[in-house]
Amino acid sequence: MRIDLHAHSSVSDGTDSPAGLVEAALEAGLDAVAITDHDSTGGWDQAAAAARELGMVLVPGMEVSCRTPEGISVHVLSYLHDPQHHGLLEEISKSKDARLSRAEHMVSLLAEDYPLSWDDVTQHLAPGATVGRPHIADALVAAGIVGDRSEAFATILSSRSRYFVQHYAPEPAVAVELVRAAGGVPVFAHPVAESRGRTVGEATYHDMIDAGLAGLEVFHRDNPEARRPFLLALAERRGLFLTGASDYHGSGKPNRLGENTTAPEVFAEIERQASGTAVVRP
Ligand code: AMP
Ligand code: FE
Ligand code: FE
Ligand code: ZN
Repeated sequence: MRIDLHAHSSVSDGTDSPAGLVEAALEAGLDAVAITDHDSTGGWDQAAAAARELGMVLVPGMEVSCRTPEGISVHVLSYLHDPQHHGLLEEISKSKDARLSRAEHMVSLLAEDYPLSWDDVTQHLAPGATVGRPHIADALVAAGIVGDRSEAFATILSSRSRYFVQHYAPEPAVAVELVRAAGGVPVFAHPVAESRGRTVGEATYHDMIDAGLAGLEVFHRDNPEARRPFLLALAERRGLFLTGASDYHGSGKPNRLGENTTAPEVFAEIERQASGTAVVRP
């Protein structure tokens, strides 16, 4: 079985619709795919319908934006949680709202130096979608200011850029606790992805593990090889499972579906630990 547990649709910053994502997973030769949009479960129903129709296994999931008190960005993947759980829903709504005012703020800063308006950004945003820097990147590409999203992130949208603005997000351990409370299974996404900015020290891992963290997404292109032994040792010591995934964003990123996968035994363990939502099977 080939299982990819991290992929985005146009409900956040992917470029495929939720149904299109399931179709792309089938074409990539996968047996199972997780839909993990940023701070939203808005794609679950459409993806589930497509999975039933196409004979794919779908794992309903989400990627929760978090930030440590020192300002380091952390992403927590949630699998199979109850999408109606109040505590979790409240946190992700706060993040989504904060993301909107933050994106508007970044665009107003950019507009001082570049021909860019908020309208240019919303054109790249599906209705109700979680807005992020990728959508600002799309507007910069359309205006001919950068060549693609990657160039935008390497330059004017980087977390070190003077146009960068932070947004509210819960602390990682709080998100982990809420995911568990909602019956979900929390996994630390791309934990040592240093190309995205600063990464957390070991204390944050222990806080997250004490709060109920289940696994580490070790096999992800943004985790440098040199830092993986640390993750493997920690997982061994604290009894975490390991996952692998693509973090597919459609044409918005070079990541291809199935470029990293998760072992069937780990998928079975995720399903065993979850109590919020069922895996969708054809
Ligand atoms: P934000 O959450 O709005 O701060 O933006 C971060 C998002 O941008 C993440 O979800 C990534 O998927 C995406 N991202 C990060 N680096 C890149 C890149 N080099 N190219 C395209 N998208 C990226
Ligand atoms: Fe993303
Ligand atoms: Fe992420
Ligand atoms: Zn992701």
